[in-house]
Amino acid sequence: MSKLTPAMIPADYPVKPLHDGEPAKARASCGSCGLSWDDGVSTAMTPTPAARCPFEAFHADTNDTPKKKRALLRRWERPDNYIGPNFPEYFVGLGRSRDSDTLENCNFDVLLERLGGEDDDAVLVVRDSHWAVGWVEQILVHQDFPEKLGILAKALADLENYPVLDDDAFSQAEMDEADETLKNFRDEFREEVLRALEFREPDRKFSRETARLAQLDAVVDAIFQEDIGWRGVADAYVSQDSIRRMAERLGRHELRQLAADGNLFARALLKVFN
Ligand SMILES: [Zn+2]
Repeated sequence: MSKLTPAMIPADYPVKPLHDGEPAKARASCGSCGLSWDDGVSTAMTPTPAARCPFEAFHADTNDTPKKKRALLRRWERPDNYIGPNFPEYFVGLGRSRDSDTLENCNFDVLLERLGGEDDDAVLVVRDSHWAVGWVEQILVHQDFPEKLGILAKALADLENYPVLDDDAFSQAEMDEADETLKNFRDEFREEVLRALEFREPDRKFSRETARLAQLDAVVDAIFQEDIGWRGVADAYVSQDSIRRMAERLGRHELRQLAADGNLFARALLKVFN
């Protein structure tokens, strides 16, 4: 493989590469990437076991990479039956498709932001249509930008240990998705609650009675939040199942609280499912 330079290792990486002539208690070097480190400093990765390198995540994919340990930093490869443009000078970052979930989308966005966004030379987002998943996008980083390659390698190494690149960004993304679902399906969710109660009053009566509509929405919100805890934000929905689950078991406390505050719908639900 081509040699790495200390500049390729991000400043927040747990092991610091040694520069030429930098003093160390127990200098160790990797024959593959050429980097050195101080094995006398104790970190999560050092001292390293024999024949291992703390910078393996930054080793690019080449013939001398052992087959059993696939390099995280891989060159773009031409897919079979592919007729689009070629990117032989680029390394492959994260991808996503039309069917990606919140986490995959969030990690993609976080990595792209860390890389400084799309940039005609250094960082590309390649979009392609795909017969099965509609479209796919992939982040590519050019070989001549070692600092950005380092950021990519660190992100890929982090993802080996923990699936979320940025916890704050991920919880924000989940909240946004929950808000979006509530915005798009609130009417259906209201209907489901009314159906569970067998209230057959016309919709317009509720829409005019703002005070009662707010009560209904408070119950809808509580059931939806409960269902997020149960099924995850991507699948959460206010259905007869989730209402029953809420009223009978898990969210009984929240419903009781709402009922105690005078919420007629919460009261009625508790009565129906008692
Ligand atoms: Zn190495």
